[in-house]
Amino acid sequence: MKKHQFLDLAEVNAPYMDEMAEAAGRVIRSGRYVGGVECESFENELGKFLGAPYIIGVSNGLDALRLILKGWVEMGILTPGDEVIVPANTYIASVLAVSDAGLVPVPVDADLTTMNIDTSKIEAAVTPRTKALMVVHLYGRIVWDEKIIELARRYGLKVIEDNAQAIGAEAPVPGFGTSGMAGSLADAGAISFYPTKNLGAVGDAGAVVTGDEKLARVVRALSNYGSDRRYHNIYCGYNCRLDPIQAAMMRVKLPHLKEENDLRRTRARLYDRLITTDAVIKPDIVEDSGDHVWHQYVVRVPGGRRDELKKMLEDEGVMTDIHYAVPFYRQPCYEGRWNPADFPVSEKLASEVLSLPVGPGTKPEDIEEITSVINRFV
Ligand SMILES: *Cc1c(COP(=O)(O)O)cnc(C)c1O
Repeated sequence: MKKHQFLDLAEVNAPYMDEMAEAAGRVIRSGRYVGGVECESFENELGKFLGAPYIIGVSNGLDALRLILKGWVEMGILTPGDEVIVPANTYIASVLAVSDAGLVPVPVDADLTTMNIDTSKIEAAVTPRTKALMVVHLYGRIVWDEKIIELARRYGLKVIEDNAQAIGAEAPVPGFGTSGMAGSLADAGAISFYPTKNLGAVGDAGAVVTGDEKLARVVRALSNYGSDRRYHNIYCGYNCRLDPIQAAMMRVKLPHLKEENDLRRTRARLYDRLITTDAVIKPDIVEDSGDHVWHQYVVRVPGGRRDELKKMLEDEGVMTDIHYAVPFYRQPCYEGRWNPADFPVSEKLASEVLSLPVGPGTKPEDIEEITSVINRFV
């Protein structure tokens, strides 16, 4: 059988190669290597795509999250020591941004079906110190419902979206004035253009999305040494700017994101149809809604057999990945901060999840071969 890569990044970019090379050449010939028209144009184009008023291109997704939280600290909206609710099964970057801003991450367990934060458990985690809630649209699936909006309103919480994985997903809950594109639903959103993401650069890049003009100004300044104009520093800031080469790459790829996401949905539906073994639990498909862009297609293998299936697939040339085998609350850098027993669903997910290839290089015939191996696992 042919080898099935988990994600071949050169293959992801191959269809755009000529245009990307041309765009990179344009930046090099321009002589403008930091900021400039490529960054401004990309910000405008992304703002149109998301329907969002303010976009600040930044260096990566983690920095986008950090700059939002530090922006709120500079604005006096958050104070070091304030608690920020985060999903227990998220990638560690979400949480690093919180602790880096001097805030206290408070994990809330996941929901087994959506594999996102269990919105019914958020309220129990709210204390008088809780000042913000971070939602993470994990694996490409939007988490956004009336409960989140109502809780945020009732407790006066700022809501930040970690939208590293769901660019292009649309909230499926119109009717209460806050539907729209992932990343633009909450008070502020962070996007990652890490090369493996649905809209990937050829290096690190990210963006902050917000409707708040003041926050936009603060984040822009923080990303540029805390400077609001040349040689005038109002904050002790950072250098977290978007690279114009990366902006130029994404200007080539953004117009194709919708069709790429649609193809991911098609692949997910094909997996859903072709996986028939009872030994594997398929992800919820969320039919006929645009609220899942399948950054990952994540199955669960119960009974302590995940690694057995992973090995069996590998022996047949099918590469898979695990997002994430060790939750952030078990990482050495957070040693002793939390008790894993408080997050039974996240613990279960960490031992059961397996990500199958779902990226642009995975064709329908690949999925037929991959699922024929999976169906032998009983
Ligand atoms: C990738 C990712 C990030 C970080 O983005 P970078 O651009 O790699 O810094 C943050 N949160 C989640 C959920 C991610 O998947």
